[in-house]
Amino acid sequence: MQALILAGGQGTRLRARLGDLPKPLVDVDGVPLLQRQIEALRDQGVTDVVVLVNYKAEAIREFARAHDDFGLRLRIIDDGEPLGTSGAVMAILDQLQERFLVLYGDTLMDVDFGRLVAAHVAHGADGTLFLHPNDHPHDSDLVELNEQGWITAFHKYPHAPDALHRNMVNAALYVLERTALEAFRGLPTPSDFAKQTFPAMIKAGRRLFGYVSFEYIKDIGTPARLDKAVGHLRSGRVARARLSSPQKAVFLDRDGTLNAEVNFLRHHDQLELLPGVAAAIKRLNDAEYRCVVVTNQPVLARGEATMTDMARIHAKLDTLLGQEGAFLDALYLCPHHPHSGYPGEVAALKRECDCRKPGTGMIEQAVRELNIDLSQSWMVGDTTSDLEVARRAGLRSILVRTGFGGGDGKYPAMPLFIAAGLPEAVDIILRH
Ligand SMILES: [Zn+2]
Repeated sequence: MQALILAGGQGTRLRARLGDLPKPLVDVDGVPLLQRQIEALRDQGVTDVVVLVNYKAEAIREFARAHDDFGLRLRIIDDGEPLGTSGAVMAILDQLQERFLVLYGDTLMDVDFGRLVAAHVAHGADGTLFLHPNDHPHDSDLVELNEQGWITAFHKYPHAPDALHRNMVNAALYVLERTALEAFRGLPTPSDFAKQTFPAMIKAGRRLFGYVSFEYIKDIGTPARLDKAVGHLRSGRVARARLSSPQKAVFLDRDGTLNAEVNFLRHHDQLELLPGVAAAIKRLNDAEYRCVVVTNQPVLARGEATMTDMARIHAKLDTLLGQEGAFLDALYLCPHHPHSGYPGEVAALKRECDCRKPGTGMIEQAVRELNIDLSQSWMVGDTTSDLEVARRAGLRSILVRTGFGGGDGKYPAMPLFIAAGLPEAVDIILRH
């Protein structure tokens, strides 16, 4: 496997920390960032690394000469002039392998590259982008995905004040197929992957897959971001976010727990967050709990809402949370309903399933995909189905008095705790 590191940045905003060094050589807790990246790639089996530079190229060459013991093939290529992220790669496309990773030289990451590449290959994608939610989606470029995880659009910051988007941010880590890029070599330079090349690929019908992960990857291009990332390294937060580390999670019911219960929410206009919910989720984000929504949405089977409606509803949910710096790590929904007899119902979804709560299918899927340790995790909801799914899955449960407040009478399961609403439930979780 081959990897390219785009290391052409000048690092103007980090100048005081850099002295005479180029940005890729910035000291990150005693180790130059470029060294961290190359060693991480090598440790995961990458055997060929190309570093693309154009600013202070000589300092990077010198660094490479001083580290001839990396144990992989390392080449430094000088672009000569700033060509943009995509322009720089296009200029050397003939020298690249059929498939390669692209990293940016100003990001600190601890990512399972093998799993990322495996997802790319399994989907037969032309390109795969590492995506994640962040705590400031309103001033980030956002990516739109369809139900199957394919990228359908790029929404550039600034967004319209009433825009509703899922919180999906391009983290600047890609797997790309050389042959898929060849048709786009003619774009005028400087050209940028996110701004020009990827949108052009989507328009041309190329398949770009969105790989969503909570693993650590952060831009450290300012002193404040650098200091924060070093703090995360030292505290172990970076290592704890590895997918190979068991994760603690809070499973969250949606209607009546996060947003006001309106008896079968069908349209995003009906979605309103309950008081204090965004701030409560932000506290869970900060405490390194994975926030995972698990919701029954029989309105889909009953033909009362479509997956497009559902996507708009969740875009609004993400947007409202994001305005207060909060985000969800994942969202699972059950579209099924067991009983027939509704006008307009969708026959394919009218069936018994394992995912409809209190079935544990969604929890089990989350455990598989996010490596969740149920013994460290919680379920918070407003119905006895939420309490029953917690009992079956072995999760500690908290009943909130919002929504149905446990008064639906369907299952006899008892909560471990009762809270007035999500903010108090989070108080309980953080005390334990
Ligand atoms: Zn289901």
